[in-house]
Amino acid sequence: MTTPLLVVTDLDGTLLDHHDYHFEPVLPVIARLKQAGIPVVANTSKTRAEWLAMRANFHDNRDAFVTENGSAIHFPNSECEVLGKSREEILDLLAPLRRDYQFEGFADWTNTQVQEHTGVSKEAAERAQQREYSEPLVWKGGDGSKQSFRETLQREGLMTLEGGRFLHVLGQTDKGRPLAALRRYYGPDTPTVIALGDSPNDIAMLQQADIGVVIASPIRDQLHVETDHRLTCSTKDGPEGWAEVLTQLLDELL
Ligand SMILES: [Mg+2]
Repeated sequence: MTTPLLVVTDLDGTLLDHHDYHFEPVLPVIARLKQAGIPVVANTSKTRAEWLAMRANFHDNRDAFVTENGSAIHFPNSECEVLGKSREEILDLLAPLRRDYQFEGFADWTNTQVQEHTGVSKEAAERAQQREYSEPLVWKGGDGSKQSFRETLQREGLMTLEGGRFLHVLGQTDKGRPLAALRRYYGPDTPTVIALGDSPNDIAMLQQADIGVVIASPIRDQLHVETDHRLTCSTKDGPEGWAEVLTQLLDELL
């Protein structure tokens, strides 16, 4: 199972276009990677149900994948390594905090309400609802109480991540932590890890990679990453940038 290279990639804004989720430009590159026996590992804030519903589009991808911001690694043999906390535990810890703080989240909403808050289809909302290791919240209080809420969660072994729409509550993990287990799994000769991402929650993953790739974004300035390893940036956005940089790297490394 040893592979010389391992590609670990964010989805939204990286493998998928930020606005319309198109991904055609990556397909020839994914075919080339598959031909060369190089795994493509999705590392996403999405749920397991969400990636399982879309991975067939990527030349029937069956590689390991990481869900809910570094909370769990799902290996091809169906084994799962949990680095975060279960959603049940998270909801139990959140319940008593409702006395002091104002928030609501996916657990409080019907599927239709999730649809209203996310703007996605009924089926996509159902898959987004199938969370296992995190809870997205809408904060209804002020900034001061949000800071105190964060500190309270920290003491409970949880943390928060500020997303585009939601404040995500999850275990103390990040998208960089799974890389060690992925290197072991795809070893024993440690593969060179190429990681690609576009957002602040990708920084830990880019720092842990041998080659970090910052994908240009249509909605923010280029991500600033401090790392001792090699770092490269795409000139194009999203999937066009993904294909651009990986083609250059594969021409150089294979
Ligand atoms: Mg992204």
